[in-house]
Amino acid sequence: MTALVDVSGRLRKMPAEPGDPVSYTVRVGDTLVPLNEMIGFPLQLDFDGVIRCIHCDRKTSKSFSQGYCYPCFRKLAACDSCIMSPEKCHYHEGTCREPEWGETHCMIEHVVYLANSSGLKVGITRGSQVPTRWIDQGAVDAIPMVRVATRQLAGFVEVACKAHVADRTNWRAMLKGDVPELDLVEERRRMLDLIADDLAGLRASHGESAIRAVDEESLALSYPVQVWPRTIKTHNLDKTPTAEGVLQGIKGQYLILDTGVINIRKYTGYEVRFRVYQGN
Ligand SMILES: [Zn+2]
Repeated sequence: MTALVDVSGRLRKMPAEPGDPVSYTVRVGDTLVPLNEMIGFPLQLDFDGVIRCIHCDRKTSKSFSQGYCYPCFRKLAACDSCIMSPEKCHYHEGTCREPEWGETHCMIEHVVYLANSSGLKVGITRGSQVPTRWIDQGAVDAIPMVRVATRQLAGFVEVACKAHVADRTNWRAMLKGDVPELDLVEERRRMLDLIADDLAGLRASHGESAIRAVDEESLALSYPVQVWPRTIKTHNLDKTPTAEGVLQGIKGQYLILDTGVINIRKYTGYEVRFRVYQGN
């Protein structure tokens, strides 16, 4: 078989552009390979056993926080536990691991949104990460709910929402493609009612303008998938360094192969050889 693509280097999260469908690129070292046009072709991904930290380039035997070495994981603000639990932000205590990073990534406007990825979920992101964040989660529909002054405030609003709705995607359901339609404008109205007291409390302590309800429209997203998997098998490069199969689709950060799915983001920092073949 002739290789259409044969590139080696460190794997990164897949860049994606919104569209109908979303347009994906795989990033291997400095090479960007447009992926939508490769659907239907056999593909092979080989992990060569080396993981390099995406921050400092150091070799690491294990990847922490999706692509970092252990020292960076312990040191960087991006790897702090408050990134996973934004309500625990401790910038105001003067203990941010990297206050300058915090100022540009956390002490800025954030969006609390509702998305339909495998059913209704709540999430937060920086304004600039819309709609990238939604695509990474494989959402078929998403809508901003409130815009808030800081990441921590977004965390507080999310915590209030979590009493009523999930904050995680069931990725198996997401990858099967059978996600029921939801009216997100209606869901937003319902959620804002449910958390009205929480929002009033947060406005009282953080200022009226710190939390802004928005009437922005929802964004529908479709994904380049030819064949939806009926059962979900996963490729695990840590156990089996080669993943091969015919590319049948891409959703979220997953490649859907006829032999199983692979979460590309999970292997950020892994040095791989990526090949796509002409087929028969
Ligand atoms: Zn590092």
